[in-house]
Amino acid sequence: MERRDPSPEDADRARQPLALNPTRVRQIGWVVLAVFVTLVALNIARERWVSVLFDAIVVGLLALTLWQNAQGQSLRAVHLMVASLALGLMALMFAGQGLYDEAPMAFPTLVVFAAMLGAHRLTRALVVILLVSLVVAYGLDQTGILPSVQDSPPWVRLFEVGLILVITWMLVQMISDDLRNAITRLEGEKQALQQSRQEIERLVQSDNLTGLPNRLLARDRLEQLLVQGAESGRVVAVIFLDIDNFKTINDSLGHAAGDALLLQVAVKLRAALRDTDTVARISGDEFVILLPNLKTESAIATVIGKINRAFREAFSVDGMSVLVTVSMGITVSPRDGEDVDVLLKNADMAMYRAKDLGRNTFCFFDPGMNESVAEQLRIAAGLRTALANGELRVYYQPQLELAGERVIGAEALLRWQHPEQGFIPPTVFIPIAERSGLIHEIGDWVLQQACRDAQQWRAAGLGDLTVAVNVSPLQLRRADFDVVVAAALAAAGLPGEALELELTESSLIADTRDLAELLQRVARRGVRIAIDDFGTGYSNLSYLRRLAVHRLKIDRAFVDGICNDPNDEALVRAITEMAQCLGLAVVAEGIEDSATLQRLRGLDCQSGQGYFWSQAVPHAAFVDFVCARRGCVNDSGGCRPG
Ligand code: C2E
Ligand code: MG
Ligand code: MG
Repeated sequence: MERRDPSPEDADRARQPLALNPTRVRQIGWVVLAVFVTLVALNIARERWVSVLFDAIVVGLLALTLWQNAQGQSLRAVHLMVASLALGLMALMFAGQGLYDEAPMAFPTLVVFAAMLGAHRLTRALVVILLVSLVVAYGLDQTGILPSVQDSPPWVRLFEVGLILVITWMLVQMISDDLRNAITRLEGEKQALQQSRQEIERLVQSDNLTGLPNRLLARDRLEQLLVQGAESGRVVAVIFLDIDNFKTINDSLGHAAGDALLLQVAVKLRAALRDTDTVARISGDEFVILLPNLKTESAIATVIGKINRAFREAFSVDGMSVLVTVSMGITVSPRDGEDVDVLLKNADMAMYRAKDLGRNTFCFFDPGMNESVAEQLRIAAGLRTALANGELRVYYQPQLELAGERVIGAEALLRWQHPEQGFIPPTVFIPIAERSGLIHEIGDWVLQQACRDAQQWRAAGLGDLTVAVNVSPLQLRRADFDVVVAAALAAAGLPGEALELELTESSLIADTRDLAELLQRVARRGVRIAIDDFGTGYSNLSYLRRLAVHRLKIDRAFVDGICNDPNDEALVRAITEMAQCLGLAVVAEGIEDSATLQRLRGLDCQSGQGYFWSQAVPHAAFVDFVCARRGCVNDSGGCRPG
């Protein structure tokens, strides 16, 4: 854009005390015009022809002023109006009664008008000119050149003084109105400014979605509460609350539904707690609750009870009724710390312990938790070298056909024999491997090892056994995972039909086109896909139609209760019936006794695995197991009839 230098007119405008209002200039112009027209008439009546001439000139100039104003040149109009009035008044003074004329009485009004609407320069010049004219009038009077004569009849003087008074009053009235309006407008702008400042402050300190305080404000409040607590000797509690399985809900029902749920949780928490307690949302599904001024720690239990009660009712999300549970970690000041960061970290750690305990519970911080974090870090460090040091082994748990109890394959399960810490279960180190990213390396290795071992079973004449390999959700995020699978099969010389990949429902929740295509590519190689721990994930099951899934593995938790709990039996029955309708095979996990086996047979479950037959055992032991069941002998890697 082109920039132009400010003109003198712009500078004048900037120095004007009030904004130039063309309407106001027009109103004043008309009033003054009317006055001078009246004066013309008056002077005609009094036959004062010189005055008539001056007045008529002023009338003409005022008309020009009004025209200029109408053309949008209000500032010029004001200047012209001031100049013509000054000239008119001075002329009237000199032509009339000099210093005794009524015209000088209007000088102050003219100065007020110029000061309010004109520029400072104009007013200064006007005052000088008017003063000079008065001095000149005085000089003329004293020298006798133009002596002042008091010759107006009283009624004319009364009329003219009255007129000046009324005009002055009107002018001042208008100007004071303008001033008042300007002040009101300024007041309004000031308030709007204050409001927007408050709004900005609120936005910076509050969470966009729920309107609750955000992390920033929560930290601020906690800092204040800690100071107050230290002064009063009272306890401050910090509760770190996390919604269980929120990611699952968010991924399966969509982000809009996730947001709606967060909003409802915020409302519920706020309603359950006192106004003096702080409820803040500090990230995704994490909330922090600050309880100030507690006499004893027992008050915390009451609050936890209130929160638990609040979550007993289902939430309505997307027309669906969703039961939500939360895990809470609690830390108390001054016992667990007196620093904001320390307290928040402790509460967070305690919340993770609550998650580890199976979720839907709460946990108070204890200093031992710090050690458990250190332990996790130690495990992660050990895991990095475990693979290279040969500490990881793949064990196999046989899978059998339920009808004839024939071995049909095995599930590959990873084992870690730590040189110092002994056996570390996969439920402990797999999540750590996932968190550290090591799962890719470890997962690839398990896949390759399992393919090699399965090929050996075939070579040893154990039949067409399949091997099932567990796949972490993280491994599936790699778009080239099918290439990894193909490479493992090719390296071992194993046909795709002999491999099954076990995915958890949580891997499928994202249910994207990419995932569907990836699974298709894997399935095209003959590899089968099984859903592990089926029934424990939260899902809308529609993935079963869309994705290339072949088998469902019923979770051990349901199989375990099948003989004692009618609900478990009903669930297993429903799963097998649904699988049948969808043309899927079913495997039962965790069969520990023959009663369970019998019941599963009755429910049309085709295959299973469990301690009833065998735990996961090393490769050689698995080969022995298969041979033993077949009544063969295992002879240096081969299987021959005994
Ligand atoms: P999963 O895939 O559901 O494996 C079944 C688990 O149930 C195994 O535990 C197995 O030993 C156990 N199990 C089998 N039959 C019975 C039974 O009759 N009674 C009882 N009480 N338990 C039985 P494990 O080996 O401790 O593995 C736990 C989990 O660790 C696995 O659950 C799997 O999710 C994960 N995991 C194991 N190996 C791997 C792996 O190589 N990769 C990945 N990503 N995860 C693995
Ligand atoms: Mg499994
Ligand atoms: Mg399982």
